[in-house]
Amino acid sequence: MTDPKPIELLPSLWRFEDTCNVYVLRDGDRAIAIDFGSGRWMARLPELGIGKLEHVFLTHHHTDQCAGLLGKADLPFAVHAPMGEEAFLEPEKVKAYHSAPWYGRGCPQSYLVPPEGIPGVRCNMDWCGDIFWGNRRIRFVLTPGHGPYACSVILDQQGRQIVFCGDAAHDGGTLWQPFHLEWDHYTGGGALAAWEGIMRLAGVGMDLLCPSHGPVIDQKPAQALQLLSRRLMDFFKAKGSVCPGEKDRYVEPVIRPSGAKEVLPHLYQFGGNGYLLVSSSGEALIVDPCLGDVSALKALLAELGNIRPTAMAVSHYHCDHCDAIPALRDRYGAKAWLHPKIAEPLADPEHTIMPWLPPFPIHPDHLWPEEGAWRWQEYSFAVSHWPGQTWGHCVFMASVDGQKVLFGGDSFQPASRWSGTGGFCAYNKSRFRDGYIPSACLALEWSPDIIATGHGTFYRYAPSQFRKIIRWAESAEKAVRALCPSGDLEKDYCIVHDILAQNAALRRDSWA
Ligand SMILES: [Zn+2]
Ligand SMILES: [Zn+2]
Repeated sequence: MTDPKPIELLPSLWRFEDTCNVYVLRDGDRAIAIDFGSGRWMARLPELGIGKLEHVFLTHHHTDQCAGLLGKADLPFAVHAPMGEEAFLEPEKVKAYHSAPWYGRGCPQSYLVPPEGIPGVRCNMDWCGDIFWGNRRIRFVLTPGHGPYACSVILDQQGRQIVFCGDAAHDGGTLWQPFHLEWDHYTGGGALAAWEGIMRLAGVGMDLLCPSHGPVIDQKPAQALQLLSRRLMDFFKAKGSVCPGEKDRYVEPVIRPSGAKEVLPHLYQFGGNGYLLVSSSGEALIVDPCLGDVSALKALLAELGNIRPTAMAVSHYHCDHCDAIPALRDRYGAKAWLHPKIAEPLADPEHTIMPWLPPFPIHPDHLWPEEGAWRWQEYSFAVSHWPGQTWGHCVFMASVDGQKVLFGGDSFQPASRWSGTGGFCAYNKSRFRDGYIPSACLALEWSPDIIATGHGTFYRYAPSQFRKIIRWAESAEKAVRALCPSGDLEKDYCIVHDILAQNAALRRDSWA
């Protein structure tokens, strides 16, 4: 690979296109750099009249910003990073981060924690402070998004005020890899923090806005930031209600002495997530068996007397909906039926990059068809893939005590529960046009009476809720796409799993 070429922005200010944009500012024969990338650009410094690089200011900890610094002790320059980035940059903390088991974890606070730390890194860039280089005042402004502590760097050169915004902004009012805003799987917390940071930055007068990826913005940077702030707010709003104005329509259960809720004479909800569907034969089907719910299940079975669980079914692969399968198989001999889209991530969680996986593989006794029918005892189920909160999700519906009951996991919830959905995010493989929309259409087509969802919620179906969800999904997709530099969701937003897989390889090609 050839060394990146210096591109002169102003006298004594250059940009290198490395694994990220690296900006180098010279003063006499000394220099500072904003971000570092692989460091291969260092070979070009002598020809720019630079004898000594004195400081590197990292806008944030992502591997592409600092790959060439990882694991390097006794660096001949000081490396600074924003306050708070210790957690992702100090060698011991990075080691601890990567050695902690990630099973059962949701979205990480950062998707690009370097594989190793930077010995001697100084996380001393105050979120609204400065560091002097000679008599030059290098200023910092907190602009989160690519992690919670990312900062922009401001300095003056040739009478111009220049802002290095890291990945807080990208050309065209967009954001580099917008999935980085998803610090959890169901709120817009990261998007809101990013919006606040951009509003903070938009108030700063600037002649040149220098992002970590893509071109420098020298035409109306304030307008570009205003456009980005509107798009960030749209993205944040998309993380809000999916069915504004809808009532919850909860079904009132009979509370049984064991604490279980009798939804219908043959259907009980127990513990946090489980349902027990009882057959007149005395056999029972457990829906969404979770280890945390096993004692509640035992109490319910004790109360019911002669009932034997012989089957298990799962709405989606998240561990709190399936991790009791092996234990209940051992205890009752119950067989597990899984939808193929759920069986897939459960087969090899150790090598699967998705959130909320169980810590061990779970294999089905029988596979359902992708779409079709399943008969269990006197119950005839319709079965389908039902992507929404996650791609690994299905739906199944049968008539119970004369009511059509749809078992719906976490994709759709009553309006007051998590804004009506278990949330969308790239890491969970949520989709709109191929996910939420066809799933909501299916609900409208199946027209159930009762929707039995995860986390103990069961409510009456209303078509208005799902019509609103379709409209929400259309505008949510638009909001996410508007942030994508390429305008392509798959290319910029849905690639989080590839980026995570490549993370460790990023550091291999570096300067020394
Ligand atoms: Zn980044
Ligand atoms: Zn859940």
